[in-house]
Amino acid sequence: GATIGILGGGQLGRMLSVAAARLGFKTCIFEPGGDCPASHVANYHFQAAYEDEDALRKFAASVDVITYEFENIPTSALDLLETLKPVRPGREALRVSQDRLTEKTYLADMGLSVAPFAAVADAQSLEAAIAATGLPAILKTRRFGYDGKGQARIMTAEDTPQALADMQGAPAILEGFVDFSHEVSVIGARGLDGSVACFDPGENVHRDGILRTTTVPARLSAAQRSDAVLLTAQILNRLDYVGVMGVELFVTPQGLVVNEIAPRVHNSGHWTQNGCTVDQFEQHIRAVAGWPLGDGARHADVVMENLIGDDMDRVPALAAEPHTALHLYGKADTKPGRKMGHVNRVVR
Ligand code: ATP
Ligand code: MG
Ligand code: MG
Repeated sequence: GATIGILGGGQLGRMLSVAAARLGFKTCIFEPGGDCPASHVANYHFQAAYEDEDALRKFAASVDVITYEFENIPTSALDLLETLKPVRPGREALRVSQDRLTEKTYLADMGLSVAPFAAVADAQSLEAAIAATGLPAILKTRRFGYDGKGQARIMTAEDTPQALADMQGAPAILEGFVDFSHEVSVIGARGLDGSVACFDPGENVHRDGILRTTTVPARLSAAQRSDAVLLTAQILNRLDYVGVMGVELFVTPQGLVVNEIAPRVHNSGHWTQNGCTVDQFEQHIRAVAGWPLGDGARHADVVMENLIGDDMDRVPALAAEPHTALHLYGKADTKPGRKMGHVNRVVR
Protein backbone atom coordinates (compact mmCIF):
# COMPACT_ATOMS: atom_id res chain seq x y z
CA GLY A 1 0.00 0.00 0.00
CA ALA A 2 0.94 3.63 -0.38
CA THR A 3 2.47 5.70 2.40
CA ILE A 4 1.23 9.17 3.23
CA GLY A 5 3.73 11.63 4.67
CA ILE A 6 2.39 14.11 7.21
CA LEU A 7 4.28 17.24 8.27
CA GLY A 8 3.53 17.84 11.96
CA GLY A 9 2.80 15.43 14.78
CA GLY A 10 -0.02 16.97 16.81
CA GLN A 11 -3.55 15.68 17.35
CA LEU A 12 -4.58 16.52 13.80
CA GLY A 13 -1.73 14.38 12.46
CA ARG A 14 -2.76 11.65 14.86
CA MET A 15 -6.36 11.58 13.66
CA LEU A 16 -5.22 11.77 10.03
CA SER A 17 -3.00 8.75 10.65
CA VAL A 18 -5.87 6.76 12.14
CA ALA A 19 -8.09 7.59 9.16
CA ALA A 20 -5.32 6.67 6.73
CA ALA A 21 -4.78 3.33 8.47
CA ARG A 22 -8.50 2.57 8.13
CA LEU A 23 -8.14 2.92 4.37
CA GLY A 24 -5.08 0.67 4.26
CA PHE A 25 -2.43 3.37 3.99
CA LYS A 26 0.69 3.70 6.06
CA THR A 27 1.66 7.05 7.50
CA CYS A 28 5.02 8.64 8.13
CA ILE A 29 5.15 11.80 10.20
CA PHE A 30 7.85 14.46 10.15
CA GLU A 31 7.96 16.14 13.54
CA PRO A 32 10.91 17.62 15.46
CA GLY A 33 9.37 16.72 18.84
CA GLY A 34 9.69 13.21 20.25
CA ASP A 35 6.69 12.03 22.23
CA CYS A 36 3.97 13.68 20.16
CA PRO A 37 0.32 12.63 19.68
CA ALA A 38 0.81 11.40 16.09
CA SER A 39 3.96 9.41 16.91
CA HIS A 40 1.84 6.97 18.94
CA VAL A 41 -0.20 5.89 15.92
CA ALA A 42 1.83 6.63 12.77
CA ASN A 43 3.89 3.83 11.21
CA TYR A 44 7.07 5.90 10.92
CA HIS A 45 8.38 9.03 12.60
CA PHE A 46 11.17 11.21 11.23
CA GLN A 47 12.25 13.12 14.31
CA ALA A 48 14.28 15.93 12.79
CA ALA A 49 14.33 19.68 12.34
CA TYR A 50 12.69 21.29 9.29
CA GLU A 51 16.15 22.66 8.46
CA ASP A 52 17.61 19.14 8.22
CA GLU A 53 17.82 18.69 4.45
CA ASP A 54 19.07 15.13 4.68
CA ALA A 55 16.15 14.07 6.88
CA LEU A 56 13.67 15.84 4.57
CA ARG A 57 15.08 13.94 1.58
CA LYS A 58 14.82 10.60 3.36
CA PHE A 59 11.29 11.43 4.48
CA ALA A 60 10.25 12.29 0.93
CA ALA A 61 11.87 9.12 -0.39
CA SER A 62 9.83 6.98 2.00
CA VAL A 63 6.39 8.40 1.13
CA ASP A 64 4.16 8.65 -1.96
CA VAL A 65 2.46 11.96 -1.21
CA ILE A 66 3.01 14.67 1.40
CA THR A 67 0.40 16.58 3.37
CA TYR A 68 0.49 18.65 6.57
CA GLU A 69 -1.45 19.29 9.73
CA PHE A 70 -0.31 22.88 10.36
CA GLU A 71 0.28 25.81 8.08
CA ASN A 72 3.51 27.26 9.45
CA ILE A 73 5.90 24.92 7.70
CA PRO A 74 9.17 26.72 6.92
CA THR A 75 9.38 27.81 3.29
CA SER A 76 12.81 26.22 2.78
CA ALA A 77 11.46 22.77 3.74
CA LEU A 78 8.57 23.12 1.27
CA ASP A 79 10.88 24.35 -1.49
CA LEU A 80 12.79 21.10 -1.21
CA LEU A 81 9.90 18.71 -0.57
CA GLU A 82 7.82 19.83 -3.52
CA THR A 83 10.67 18.98 -5.89
CA LEU A 84 10.64 15.41 -4.54
CA LYS A 85 6.99 14.40 -4.05
CA PRO A 86 3.54 15.91 -4.58
CA VAL A 87 2.61 18.22 -1.68
CA ARG A 88 -1.17 18.49 -1.17
CA PRO A 89 -2.75 20.94 -0.58
CA GLY A 90 -0.35 22.86 -2.80
CA ARG A 91 1.91 25.80 -2.22
CA GLU A 92 -0.58 28.54 -3.05
CA ALA A 93 -2.84 27.62 -0.13
CA LEU A 94 0.10 27.87 2.25
CA ARG A 95 1.37 31.11 0.79
CA VAL A 96 -2.05 32.70 1.22
CA SER A 97 -2.83 31.39 4.70
CA GLN A 98 0.57 31.76 6.37
CA ASP A 99 0.21 35.53 6.55
CA ARG A 100 -3.02 37.17 7.73
CA LEU A 101 -2.40 40.25 5.56
CA THR A 102 -1.91 38.17 2.40
CA GLU A 103 -4.96 36.09 3.34
CA LYS A 104 -7.30 39.04 3.97
CA THR A 105 -6.11 40.73 0.76
CA TYR A 106 -6.63 37.54 -1.26
CA LEU A 107 -10.16 37.01 0.09
CA ALA A 108 -11.11 40.66 -0.41
CA ASP A 109 -9.79 40.52 -3.99
CA MET A 110 -12.11 37.57 -4.59
CA GLY A 111 -14.99 39.83 -3.70
CA LEU A 112 -15.61 38.16 -0.35
CA SER A 113 -16.49 40.23 2.65
CA VAL A 114 -13.78 40.50 5.36
CA ALA A 115 -13.24 42.79 8.37
CA PRO A 116 -11.76 46.20 7.50
CA PHE A 117 -7.99 45.75 7.81
CA ALA A 118 -4.67 47.54 7.48
CA ALA A 119 -1.02 46.58 7.83
CA VAL A 120 0.81 47.69 10.97
CA ALA A 121 4.58 47.92 11.41
CA ASP A 122 5.01 50.64 14.03
CA ALA A 123 3.21 53.31 16.09
CA GLN A 124 2.79 55.56 13.07
CA SER A 125 1.20 52.93 10.82
CA LEU A 126 -0.97 51.80 13.74
CA GLU A 127 -2.38 55.28 14.04
CA ALA A 128 -3.15 55.35 10.32
CA ALA A 129 -4.67 51.85 10.55
CA ILE A 130 -6.99 52.92 13.39
CA ALA A 131 -8.11 55.86 11.29
CA ALA A 132 -8.96 53.36 8.52
CA THR A 133 -10.70 50.62 10.55
CA GLY A 134 -12.12 52.57 13.47
CA LEU A 135 -12.37 51.26 17.05
CA PRO A 136 -12.81 48.79 18.60
CA ALA A 137 -10.26 46.79 16.64
CA ILE A 138 -7.98 43.80 17.07
CA LEU A 139 -4.26 43.90 16.44
CA LYS A 140 -2.91 40.49 15.36
CA THR A 141 0.53 39.27 14.40
CA ARG A 142 0.52 38.51 10.68
CA ARG A 143 2.14 35.11 11.19
CA PHE A 144 2.17 32.18 13.63
CA GLY A 145 -0.93 33.10 15.66
CA TYR A 146 -3.38 30.42 16.81
CA ASP A 147 -5.89 29.95 19.65
CA GLY A 148 -6.08 33.75 19.95
CA LYS A 149 -2.34 34.03 20.70
CA GLY A 150 -0.55 37.08 19.33
CA GLN A 151 -3.68 39.24 19.48
CA ALA A 152 -4.49 42.42 21.40
CA ARG A 153 -7.81 44.22 21.52
CA ILE A 154 -7.86 47.99 21.18
CA MET A 155 -11.08 49.33 22.67
CA THR A 156 -9.98 52.96 23.07
CA ALA A 157 -6.94 54.97 21.94
CA GLU A 158 -5.44 54.41 25.41
CA ASP A 159 -4.97 50.69 24.67
CA THR A 160 -2.76 51.43 21.66
CA PRO A 161 0.76 51.45 23.19
CA GLN A 162 0.20 48.20 25.11
CA ALA A 163 -1.31 46.48 22.05
CA LEU A 164 1.71 47.46 19.97
CA ALA A 165 4.08 46.26 22.72
CA ASP A 166 2.22 42.91 22.76
CA MET A 167 3.25 42.34 19.11
CA GLN A 168 6.91 42.29 20.26
CA GLY A 169 8.04 43.95 17.05
CA ALA A 170 6.43 41.37 14.75
CA PRO A 171 4.65 42.61 11.61
CA ALA A 172 0.95 42.94 12.42
CA ILE A 173 -2.47 43.55 10.95
CA LEU A 174 -5.23 45.67 12.47
CA GLU A 175 -8.76 44.39 11.98
CA GLY A 176 -11.87 46.38 12.70
CA PHE A 177 -14.16 44.58 15.14
CA VAL A 178 -16.92 42.69 13.35
CA ASP A 179 -20.23 42.96 15.19
CA PHE A 180 -21.35 39.38 14.64
CA SER A 181 -24.28 37.51 16.16
CA HIS A 182 -22.43 34.19 16.11
CA GLU A 183 -19.57 32.31 14.47
CA VAL A 184 -19.79 29.38 12.07
CA SER A 185 -17.35 27.41 9.99
CA VAL A 186 -17.46 25.29 6.88
CA ILE A 187 -15.22 22.28 6.48
CA GLY A 188 -14.81 21.92 2.73
CA ALA A 189 -12.99 19.35 0.64
CA ARG A 190 -11.75 19.34 -2.93
CA GLY A 191 -10.54 16.23 -4.74
CA LEU A 192 -7.72 15.83 -7.23
CA ASP A 193 -10.40 15.76 -9.96
CA GLY A 194 -11.71 19.17 -8.86
CA SER A 195 -14.90 17.90 -7.25
CA VAL A 196 -15.98 19.78 -4.14
CA ALA A 197 -17.92 18.57 -1.10
CA CYS A 198 -18.66 20.55 2.05
CA PHE A 199 -19.76 19.34 5.46
CA ASP A 200 -22.76 20.97 7.05
CA PRO A 201 -21.69 24.29 8.67
CA GLY A 202 -21.03 24.16 12.42
CA GLU A 203 -21.60 26.89 14.98
CA ASN A 204 -18.55 27.74 17.05
CA VAL A 205 -18.22 29.17 20.54
CA HIS A 206 -14.81 30.44 21.68
CA ARG A 207 -13.62 31.20 25.20
CA ASP A 208 -10.34 33.03 25.87
CA GLY A 209 -9.62 32.85 22.14
CA ILE A 210 -9.85 29.02 22.10
CA LEU A 211 -12.60 27.00 20.45
CA ARG A 212 -14.81 25.46 23.17
CA THR A 213 -17.75 23.95 21.29
CA THR A 214 -19.00 23.30 17.78
CA THR A 215 -22.70 22.57 17.34
CA VAL A 216 -24.36 21.15 14.23
CA PRO A 217 -26.64 22.19 12.76
CA ALA A 218 -25.58 25.84 13.04
CA ARG A 219 -28.21 28.55 13.36
CA LEU A 220 -28.34 29.68 9.72
CA SER A 221 -31.11 30.46 7.27
CA ALA A 222 -31.24 28.38 4.10
CA ALA A 223 -29.78 31.34 2.20
CA GLN A 224 -26.92 31.79 4.69
CA ARG A 225 -26.20 28.06 4.59
CA SER A 226 -25.86 28.05 0.82
CA ASP A 227 -23.80 31.27 0.93
CA ALA A 228 -21.41 29.63 3.38
CA VAL A 229 -20.99 26.51 1.27
CA LEU A 230 -20.72 28.40 -2.03
CA LEU A 231 -18.06 30.82 -0.83
CA THR A 232 -16.07 27.89 0.54
CA ALA A 233 -16.25 26.17 -2.84
CA GLN A 234 -15.18 29.43 -4.49
CA ILE A 235 -12.07 29.61 -2.27
CA LEU A 236 -11.22 25.92 -2.86
CA ASN A 237 -11.53 26.33 -6.63
CA ARG A 238 -9.57 29.58 -6.75
CA LEU A 239 -6.68 27.94 -4.89
CA ASP A 240 -6.87 24.80 -7.08
CA TYR A 241 -6.98 23.14 -3.69
CA VAL A 242 -6.64 19.43 -2.92
CA GLY A 243 -7.66 18.32 0.58
CA VAL A 244 -9.78 19.60 3.45
CA MET A 245 -9.97 23.25 4.45
CA GLY A 246 -11.60 25.05 7.37
CA VAL A 247 -13.29 28.39 6.65
CA GLU A 248 -14.23 30.48 9.70
CA LEU A 249 -17.13 32.90 9.24
CA PHE A 250 -18.83 35.65 11.23
CA VAL A 251 -22.62 35.86 10.85
CA THR A 252 -23.84 39.45 10.61
CA PRO A 253 -27.12 41.05 9.51
CA GLN A 254 -25.23 42.24 6.39
CA GLY A 255 -24.18 38.70 5.50
CA LEU A 256 -21.28 36.35 6.12
CA VAL A 257 -17.83 37.82 6.82
CA VAL A 258 -14.81 35.55 6.34
CA ASN A 259 -12.56 35.54 9.42
CA GLU A 260 -9.80 33.16 8.33
CA ILE A 261 -9.08 30.01 6.40
CA ALA A 262 -7.03 27.01 7.55
CA PRO A 263 -5.45 24.83 4.82
CA ARG A 264 -5.94 21.59 6.77
CA VAL A 265 -8.37 19.60 8.82
CA HIS A 266 -9.87 21.86 11.47
CA ASN A 267 -10.84 21.64 15.14
CA SER A 268 -14.38 22.78 14.28
CA GLY A 269 -14.69 19.71 12.00
CA HIS A 270 -14.14 17.14 14.74
CA TRP A 271 -17.91 16.60 15.04
CA THR A 272 -17.82 14.82 11.67
CA GLN A 273 -16.17 11.81 13.37
CA ASN A 274 -19.50 10.89 14.92
CA GLY A 275 -21.95 12.79 12.72
CA CYS A 276 -21.01 11.64 9.22
CA THR A 277 -20.32 8.41 7.37
CA VAL A 278 -17.00 9.82 6.14
CA ASP A 279 -15.35 12.30 8.52
CA GLN A 280 -13.02 15.21 7.73
CA PHE A 281 -9.89 13.14 8.36
CA GLU A 282 -10.86 10.39 5.94
CA GLN A 283 -12.04 13.01 3.46
CA HIS A 284 -8.62 14.68 3.58
CA ILE A 285 -6.78 11.37 3.15
CA ARG A 286 -9.04 10.47 0.22
CA ALA A 287 -8.36 13.82 -1.45
CA VAL A 288 -4.57 13.80 -1.06
CA ALA A 289 -4.41 10.14 -2.12
CA GLY A 290 -6.35 10.94 -5.30
CA TRP A 291 -9.40 8.93 -4.27
CA PRO A 292 -12.94 10.12 -4.91
CA LEU A 293 -14.35 12.20 -2.05
CA GLY A 294 -16.56 10.24 0.33
CA ASP A 295 -20.12 10.76 1.53
CA GLY A 296 -19.92 13.53 4.15
CA ALA A 297 -23.67 13.90 4.63
CA ARG A 298 -24.60 14.55 8.26
CA HIS A 299 -26.68 11.80 9.88
CA ALA A 300 -26.98 13.23 13.41
CA ASP A 301 -27.00 16.43 15.42
CA VAL A 302 -23.72 16.72 17.30
CA VAL A 303 -22.17 18.96 19.92
CA MET A 304 -18.37 18.78 19.98
CA GLU A 305 -16.72 20.00 23.17
CA ASN A 306 -12.97 20.50 23.44
CA LEU A 307 -11.25 19.13 26.53
CA ILE A 308 -8.75 21.79 27.50
CA GLY A 309 -6.28 21.61 30.40
CA ASP A 310 -8.03 20.49 33.59
CA ASP A 311 -11.10 19.36 31.64
CA MET A 312 -9.21 16.05 31.64
CA ASP A 313 -10.39 15.57 35.25
CA ARG A 314 -13.87 15.03 33.79
CA VAL A 315 -12.82 12.10 31.61
CA PRO A 316 -14.08 9.34 33.97
CA ALA A 317 -17.52 10.99 34.10
CA LEU A 318 -17.55 11.65 30.35
CA ALA A 319 -16.61 8.05 29.66
CA ALA A 320 -19.80 6.97 31.42
CA GLU A 321 -22.09 9.38 29.54
CA PRO A 322 -24.50 7.92 27.00
CA HIS A 323 -24.40 9.09 23.36
CA THR A 324 -20.92 10.49 23.94
CA ALA A 325 -17.77 9.61 22.00
CA LEU A 326 -14.44 10.42 23.64
CA HIS A 327 -11.39 11.30 21.57
CA LEU A 328 -8.19 11.70 23.60
CA TYR A 329 -4.85 12.76 22.14
CA GLY A 330 -2.50 10.87 24.47
CA LYS A 331 -0.62 14.01 25.54
CA ALA A 332 1.62 13.28 28.50
CA ASP A 333 1.17 16.48 30.49
CA THR A 334 -1.83 18.68 31.04
CA LYS A 335 -1.24 22.42 30.73
CA PRO A 336 -3.74 25.28 31.01
CA GLY A 337 -5.04 26.15 27.54
CA ARG A 338 -3.71 22.92 26.03
CA LYS A 339 -6.09 20.89 23.86
CA MET A 340 -6.07 17.39 25.39
CA GLY A 341 -9.02 15.80 23.61
CA HIS A 342 -12.64 16.34 22.69
CA VAL A 343 -16.03 14.72 23.09
CA ASN A 344 -18.75 14.41 20.50
CA ARG A 345 -22.24 14.25 21.97
CA VAL A 346 -24.62 12.76 19.46
CA VAL A 347 -27.87 14.53 20.16
CA ARG A 348 -30.15 12.77 17.72
P1 ATP B 1 -7.58 29.79 15.54
O1 ATP B 1 -7.23 28.98 16.74
O2 ATP B 1 -9.01 29.65 15.11
O3 ATP B 1 -6.61 29.68 14.40
P2 ATP B 1 -6.57 32.51 15.73
O4 ATP B 1 -5.58 32.68 16.80
O5 ATP B 1 -6.10 32.41 14.32
O6 ATP B 1 -7.54 31.30 16.08
P3 ATP B 1 -8.76 34.29 15.04
O7 ATP B 1 -9.61 33.23 14.47
O8 ATP B 1 -8.27 35.36 14.14
O9 ATP B 1 -7.54 33.74 15.89
O10 ATP B 1 -9.53 34.99 16.23
C1 ATP B 1 -9.99 34.24 17.37
C2 ATP B 1 -11.36 34.70 17.74
O11 ATP B 1 -11.34 36.09 18.08
C3 ATP B 1 -12.37 34.61 16.59
O12 ATP B 1 -12.91 33.32 16.47
C4 ATP B 1 -13.39 35.65 17.06
O13 ATP B 1 -14.17 35.15 18.13
C5 ATP B 1 -12.49 36.76 17.60
N1 ATP B 1 -12.13 37.69 16.51
C6 ATP B 1 -11.05 37.62 15.73
N2 ATP B 1 -11.04 38.62 14.83
C7 ATP B 1 -12.15 39.34 15.03
C8 ATP B 1 -12.73 40.51 14.41
N3 ATP B 1 -12.11 41.16 13.40
N4 ATP B 1 -13.90 40.95 14.90
C9 ATP B 1 -14.52 40.33 15.92
N5 ATP B 1 -14.03 39.24 16.54
C10 ATP B 1 -12.87 38.74 16.11
MG1 MG C 1 -6.14 30.90 12.98
MG1 MG D 1 -9.68 31.31 14.10
